[in-house]
Amino acid sequence: MTETPILPAVRDFLDRRHQLYIGGRWVEAEGNARLNVYNPATGAIISSVPDATARDAARAVDAARESFRVGVWASLAPGMRERVLLRLADLVERDAEILAQLETLEQGKSLVLSRILEAGGAQSWIRYVAGLATKITGQSLDVSIALPPGARYTSFTRKEPVGVVAGIVPWNFPLVIGVWKVLPALAAGCSVVAKPADTTPLTLLYLAQLATEAGVPDGVFNVVTGRGAVAGDTLVRHADVAKVSFTGSTPVGKRIAQICAGRLAPVSLELGGKNPAIVLADADVEQVVGGLALAGFLNQGQVCAACSRVYVQAPLFDKVAAGLHAALSSMRIGPGMDETTQVNPVASAVQQDKVSGYLQNAMEQGAEILWGQNLPGNAGAGYYVRPALVLNPDDTLALTREEVFGPVMALTRVDSVEDALARANDSSFGLAASVWTSSLAQAMDLPPRMQAGTVWVNSHVMIDPNLPFGGMKDSGLGRDFGTDWLDAFTELKAVCIRH
Ligand code: NAD
Repeated sequence: MTETPILPAVRDFLDRRHQLYIGGRWVEAEGNARLNVYNPATGAIISSVPDATARDAARAVDAARESFRVGVWASLAPGMRERVLLRLADLVERDAEILAQLETLEQGKSLVLSRILEAGGAQSWIRYVAGLATKITGQSLDVSIALPPGARYTSFTRKEPVGVVAGIVPWNFPLVIGVWKVLPALAAGCSVVAKPADTTPLTLLYLAQLATEAGVPDGVFNVVTGRGAVAGDTLVRHADVAKVSFTGSTPVGKRIAQICAGRLAPVSLELGGKNPAIVLADADVEQVVGGLALAGFLNQGQVCAACSRVYVQAPLFDKVAAGLHAALSSMRIGPGMDETTQVNPVASAVQQDKVSGYLQNAMEQGAEILWGQNLPGNAGAGYYVRPALVLNPDDTLALTREEVFGPVMALTRVDSVEDALARANDSSFGLAASVWTSSLAQAMDLPPRMQAGTVWVNSHVMIDPNLPFGGMKDSGLGRDFGTDWLDAFTELKAVCIRH
């Protein structure tokens, strides 16, 4: 086992006494409370950040509101905002290896994934959204107002930035989801207060300082680190926060929606999933096994769109099960900093306990489990969970109904396409789904009948800035990405001129 050496710049960042990022500079939190950051591969403390109080969070909102009032960012020409954001993407590219290492060290995922999906993904999404800054358009409207007689009117709509946006980020992809929560708001001309997850705050802090270096004016991009129930809750309730953009769990999302409803604040919610795949008898087994091994076990299954339920038509069941088991067995388990590993620790001790609890319960209920490789001898205090394939679990099992968010996939034999479809849709979630088939007719017929915001055919979990992404049912409200992305960060104003 060889781990990639930690860059001196990464060590320096870890060793810093981190502060809050408010008004374009580092500021002390009002109290001394800190949140430790742990390396999931060892359980060791590698850094700490302020545990912001409600007053700290309110201070960040004040800075954002003031920057919005003055108009330092919102009144910039869209082309200038685009240039600054493109510069930010270049700085992320310059510091990609630093960001990737920080991500692996705080979150646990493979360094290979951190490079491609976090540092690389951040660049792609920032560049995409930077381009949207120059495409904010209204309409010119002909109206038929008859009064006073003889009056003529010219009318048009404008899309204006909503104001201060709270961006609340989960721990599974801290950098790239941080970008999804912050960057569209910036492109639209809003000011932002972002709150990373308690356990993975480092890359968002790093991104905020890069934004200042790129030319984002002071106060436009602020970061408060802290707990959801304190800093996060303060942002959601704050009267000066005009919009909440949240990615996280369904229970927290519902709570936030209730609070926002109380003050009529718009909210976007990207929540959990229990995402099915339907494998038809005519599917290409090799493609299914490769695609689902990635879709289920990438980032240890801690992916909102991860495939966690697979319904396979009977003729292919044994082959798919054997193929997935062989794939799991060939994945090396170890720390994310060892680039030869494919299975890494989950992100926290809490998550390790949660996932292990689901597996324990399934075993107690007599579920048949095919396991991946054993944990490495030197796993020590690392938060490892042995990957598992659960065969034909009972539909009432917690593991088959709830979001496990770990390296666990349920594989169920079905007889008919209709049975597979009914089971796939039998979930409170509706984030993503996939169909595996060589039949053009099935590839066209099934996606419209699946209750999911995204349906892939012969693929799963592949996302792109230009593909709108979001959930139905308990999986959320609204869509991220795509050409309409900035609409959620603008108010539509109608202007009617009599002349
Ligand atoms: P979480 O809901 O526990 O936390 C998410 C964020 O919300 C964190 O920053 C947390 O501190 C904050 N928070 C917690 N309580 C809060 C409160 N009362 N008020 C305001 N903020 C609060 O979720 P998590 O465990 O960090 O992330 C995993 C979840 O995120 C999974 O359910 C996963 O499916 C979901 N997720 C969804 C998407 C998507 O696009 N649909 C993407 C990634 C993750």
